[in-house]
Amino acid sequence: MNQPLLGCIADDFTGGTDLASMLVRGGMRTLQVIGVPEGPIDADVDAVVIALKSRTLPAAEAVEESLAALAWLKQAGCRQFFFKYCSTFDSTAEGNIGPVADALLNALDSQFALACPAFPENQRTLFNGYLFVGDVLLSESGMRNHPLTPMTDANLVRVLQQQTSRKVGLIPHSVVNQGATATRQAFAQAQAEGCGYTIVDATSNLDLKVIGEAAADHVLITGGSGVALGLPDNFKRAGLLPDASSAAELPHMEGLSAVLSGSCSIATNGQVEQWQQSGRPSFAFDPLRLADGHDQVAEALDWARPLLNQGPVLIYGSAKPEAVKAVQERLGVTAAGEIVERALAQTALGLRDLGVNTFVVAGGETSGAVVKALGVDALRIGETIDPGVPWTLGMGQHPVALALKSGNFGTRDFFSKALELAP
Ligand code: ADP
Repeated sequence: MNQPLLGCIADDFTGGTDLASMLVRGGMRTLQVIGVPEGPIDADVDAVVIALKSRTLPAAEAVEESLAALAWLKQAGCRQFFFKYCSTFDSTAEGNIGPVADALLNALDSQFALACPAFPENQRTLFNGYLFVGDVLLSESGMRNHPLTPMTDANLVRVLQQQTSRKVGLIPHSVVNQGATATRQAFAQAQAEGCGYTIVDATSNLDLKVIGEAAADHVLITGGSGVALGLPDNFKRAGLLPDASSAAELPHMEGLSAVLSGSCSIATNGQVEQWQQSGRPSFAFDPLRLADGHDQVAEALDWARPLLNQGPVLIYGSAKPEAVKAVQERLGVTAAGEIVERALAQTALGLRDLGVNTFVVAGGETSGAVVKALGVDALRIGETIDPGVPWTLGMGQHPVALALKSGNFGTRDFFSKALELAP
């Protein structure tokens, strides 16, 4: 591997992809790895994002995993580090944002980091330290009822202060508005006043660019993917990154394509419907038949074999809420989910043997199962299809093009659109 410039640690998978897409947009060739790699990786990139599943782990475990990720990134030669969390600052009173950031600062022998989850393009803005989701405070948004990380206080200075013994300060919008020099001075002043962190206001992409520029020499930056917007320009200014780059370019894949869908979200059900309405071929798994031991995977592959040469096929478990509920009542929620995930993962392997090397996959858990079955351990991030969903090159023994879509993402024609944009 060449020496990447930026090493990132994301506290969940889709958040990692989100950040990686942002960096690609800025001209950085970016690799996303799933969990801490066991050894070195052979890739020529400018940024690496290690995606963990640490958001809701007990704090000590989140710290341990994050430190392992940092050690790998340091060893790979990264010169700046980024701790990515959710743009709604998802965390409990115990953490994990504060404890992980503290541990990373210690390990980097550094005393200070900014904290900015703002992502104005996605309606997450920060003003006077208060986080807004759309036009309401975080604590009045749906996040107040989140099952795992309910956010009941929108004042992020207070929220972060609960999670760390370092002093937390604020750089208000009035300062950011004055530009990078004023913001840089405010960082220095906050440090002089004993702050370990400052929450930084941002209400626009321009603010994020100012913050990014002002943080060019920070060893650690913490935030949502928004604040990464300004970072590629720092490397360009330093002559470390070419100005015009084809960071999103992925190698062309010659081969067949298929869509696998295990998400039962409203958006995905609409996408399945649209595919069928446009006259394209589809095969549905029946979880009850799968549970009875019918080899529906073999049936699906037999069905797909003669069709694949004419165009992509859709194989899906996706179903409407009533049908899902009925299956869950018979099989149990976890078992029903696992049966369909396993069937789709085995189908992916079978399709690959039939010559498919381009997959559109719908569903977060489903994507995880498919990626695992295909032996993919890292993703090179390419062009964005719809917000939050890029084409990727799945690396491993058999490279495959993958569009991994979590449930609610994508327009109604997402499947066809993705295939048209495939590398
Ligand atoms: P999303 O991103 O929409 O949450 P996931 O793939 O994460 O999608 O989760 C959907 C879950 O529903 C998976 O565990 C999948 O196996 C399961 N599932 C898919 N089809 C059915 C079905 N017909 N009945 C019950 N569960 C299903």
